[in-house]
Parts: sequence; structure tokens; C-alpha cells
Amino acid sequence: QRLRRICASQPARHVQAFRPNTEAWPRSADLRRALERREFVLHYQPEVDLASRRIVGLEALIRWHHPDRGLVSPMDFIPAAEESGMILPIGDWGLAEACNQIQVWREEDPRHGSLRVCVNLSARQFLREGLADHVETLLMQSGTSSRQLGLEMTESSLIPNMGTAVEVLGGLRSLGISLSMDDFGTGYSSLSNLHSFPFDVLKIDRSFVGRMSDGDQPLQIVRTIIELARVLGMDVVAEGIETRDQYRLLRQMGCRYGQGYLFAKPMPAREISHLLRLPGRVLPDPECAPTAYV
Ligand code: C2E
Ligand code: MG
Ligand code: MG
Ligand code: MG
Repeated sequence: QRLRRICASQPARHVQAFRPNTEAWPRSADLRRALERREFVLHYQPEVDLASRRIVGLEALIRWHHPDRGLVSPMDFIPAAEESGMILPIGDWGLAEACNQIQVWREEDPRHGSLRVCVNLSARQFLREGLADHVETLLMQSGTSSRQLGLEMTESSLIPNMGTAVEVLGGLRSLGISLSMDDFGTGYSSLSNLHSFPFDVLKIDRSFVGRMSDGDQPLQIVRTIIELARVLGMDVVAEGIETRDQYRLLRQMGCRYGQGYLFAKPMPAREISHLLRLPGRVLPDPECAPTAYV
């Protein structure tokens, strides 16, 4: 009996011994407890029209207010949440929270009804049966118009479900939700996918934006992505704009929308409310103002 118990405990120890440096954190139970204790929070980053710097949308980005570890980045817990399946309840919380916040901003000013709030969706959420019905229910429960909700997903998150991806995306889109392909250029970036998937927005990954000033080739890649979006009738958003140089180049190349630290970092909803009160929701010109709203 005792021997069997010892043997049964062996495999786990064995795995640990193979990965001595891998901290198995967070575990599924940590994530569940965090959800129960309401430790997750959404920050929002403005998306601006590059010509006017008007805030046209906001990207919701999750953080974890951990009692000991402080503000934990999604990079440090989304992978574990995906693996354990906890991403489903966490994702539901995020969608509901974003929908409620949309309503709060609308109540602050009815003109904010033109804002679109985009929520990131991971592969596991996309694979979920009846996703469109589920999102529709969340919208109805909060009384949010589908025009105000956007969903972002990476191309690679569609791959496991390639057969039904077009159908699922079509279902979401027929609700009136806009769909963005996130981190474009880092995944498969297959032209046939881009052509057959009903995405409204293409987001240029910040790794390309970051290298733009390095030389002619990175610059031409960004130019080509912008052109591709134009040909396919998609809006284009450049991610991770940090410098005035990048801002200037993107505008010159005809990129319509962008987001990045140059304009504003992701911040709590209450701080976003202040930015939304700027006349015309226009952020200051970074050419003139030495600091962005951070
Ligand atoms: P993403 O969707 O590509 O989000 C953009 C990331 O770039 C965010 O990181 C944002 O804070 C960061 N960023 C924005 N502007 C700049 C800039 O000018 N410079 C630099 N260096 N970074 C910038 P964050 O918030 O750490 O999120 C990382 C990723 O985690 C997101 O990438 C997204 O894939 C995922 N994520 C965030 N929130 C959620 C969520 O609610 N659900 C799911 N499934 N994934 C999420
Ligand atoms: Mg995103
Ligand atoms: Mg992205
Ligand atoms: Mg990313």
C-alpha cells in the first residue's frame, strides 16, 4: 500500500526534476481564485485616427492585480489560462466587463456611443461551440450595441479551427461586431486566409513598426501591408507607435489608424474618461507636446 503511494507520487516529481527552472505559476486554482476575488482588471489603450489624433476606439487589455506580485502582465498568465481552460471564464468576465464599461462611457457622454472597444480573443475561446450566440447573449445582458464591440484575434488562433473559421467569424460579424486580425505578419500571414476570412481590420504587429526606421526593407514591408489592407478593403491599424519618426512615416504611407505609447499607454477606465473629455476626443500633437498621456 505504502509502496504504491510512493510510486504514484513519482511521475509528478519526475516532471518537476526535468524542469527545475520552470515555475509552475499560475496554476488553474490561482486563476480561479483570482476571478472569485475580482483581481482581474481591464486597462484600455486608445486607438487614434493618425491624421487627426482623434480617439476612435479602445483596446481592452487584461491585467491581474495580484495581492503579492503587483500588476501582472497578461503575457505571464494568459498562456496558463489557455492551457487550463480558465481562459473561458476569464474571457467571459473580460467581455462582460468591457460591455459594462462601454455603457458607463456612453452614460458619461452619448457621443461616446461612436467609440469601439476591442477585446482580445484567444484560440481556446474561438474554438468554443456556439461562440456567436454566447457573445450575443453577453451583449444583450449589458444592453450594449454590437457596433461598439470589436474582437481581435491572431491568425494562428484560427488555425486549429480552420474548417469552421469562416463560418464562426461570419456568425460574429453578422451580429454587427467588427473583427480585427491581430499581430499581422507574425503568424502564417497567408494571403488566402486573409482573403477568405471576413476581417474588417488588419493590425500591423508592433515588431514591424519598431523596425521601420532601421532601413528600407522593414519600411517596405510596412508599406506592403498597408497596401494589402487597402486592396482587400480593410482598415489598417499600426500597433506600438513609440516615436515621432514612426508616426510621421506611417502617415506618409497612408496608414489610417494607430496606437502606441507615443499617444497613450494602456490605462484604467477612469483615466480614459479624462482623455475622452478632450475636445473632439483629440489627443495632443506629440510633435508639440513633449510627453504623451501615460
Ligand atoms: P496584443 O493584443 O497585441 O496587445 C498589444 C500589446 O502591446 C499590449 O501588451 C500593449 O500594452 C502593448 N503596447 C501597446 N503600445 C505599445 C508601444 O508603443 N510599445 C510597446 N512596446 N508595447 C505597446 P499587453 O497589454 O502586455 O498584452 C499582451 C498580449 O496579451 C496582447 O497582445 C494580447 O494578445 C494578450 N491579451 C491582453 N488582454 C487579453 C485578454 O483580455 N484576453 C486574451 N485572450 N488575451 C489578452
Ligand atoms: Mg490585440
Ligand atoms: Mg497585437
Ligand atoms: Mg501581441
